[in-house]
Amino acid sequence: MKQSVKLIAGNWKMNGLCASLTEAEALRAELEKGPATCRVVLCPPATLIDRMGVALRGSSVEVGGQDCRAERCGAYTGDISADMLKDAGAAWVIVGHSERRQGYGETDAVVAAKATAALEAGLAPIVCVGETLAEREAGRAVEVVRGQVLNSLPLAAGGREFAVAYEPVWAIGTGLTPTLEQIEEVHRAVRAAMIERLGLAAATAPILYGGSVKPDNARDILAVPEVGGALVGGASLKAADFLTIVRAA
Ligand code: PGA
Repeated sequence: MKQSVKLIAGNWKMNGLCASLTEAEALRAELEKGPATCRVVLCPPATLIDRMGVALRGSSVEVGGQDCRAERCGAYTGDISADMLKDAGAAWVIVGHSERRQGYGETDAVVAAKATAALEAGLAPIVCVGETLAEREAGRAVEVVRGQVLNSLPLAAGGREFAVAYEPVWAIGTGLTPTLEQIEEVHRAVRAAMIERLGLAAATAPILYGGSVKPDNARDILAVPEVGGALVGGASLKAADFLTIVRAA
């Protein structure tokens, strides 16, 4: 499948205070030195979205949230809605990250509802899927991921901007990665499931790989067929590391 320009998204998770915005500013300064070769999204903690948007204003770097609630507003103490993220300056939001699926019991149905809320608010969702180590060792990686795509991608995504991120749970923050062949196998299955779910409207939406993407493996991973970008956790916290990954795209 022909891919357009790659999408590199940084997921800061619950890391970063106001002072960390210097990393975003350093990234911006470096990116401004040359023509854009890929799309870049930074997803800081929600408290920094507004200020990061200000720090990056006028640059091509977009800002995203890390999660949103499926409901648009209401009595949900401590939660944040897609509309609020949009209002703060986000253009994207990660939904269904394994740290949410596992830590908060989010099901595919919940993830689909969150992605729908994001689309309704005018955000592009990055819908995360990925197998556990036990599922991979049982030979079920493709089956599990296929099911997650079919059940987590809302029909509303058809014809809209969105991405799917394949993040094997066992590769996140561990320094372990699947082989390039395993990544290709799953990404092809993800593409097939996206098209099965949404039709040809899903033929070009990027499929990101995530899980221990680092400066030294990014080039090889990003060259795998059907890898349309990367979702980067730990290595997105330092501008120099993230920039190396962006340059590899
Ligand atoms: P990692 O995290 O790059 O630190 O493995 C990726 C993610 O959780 O999105």
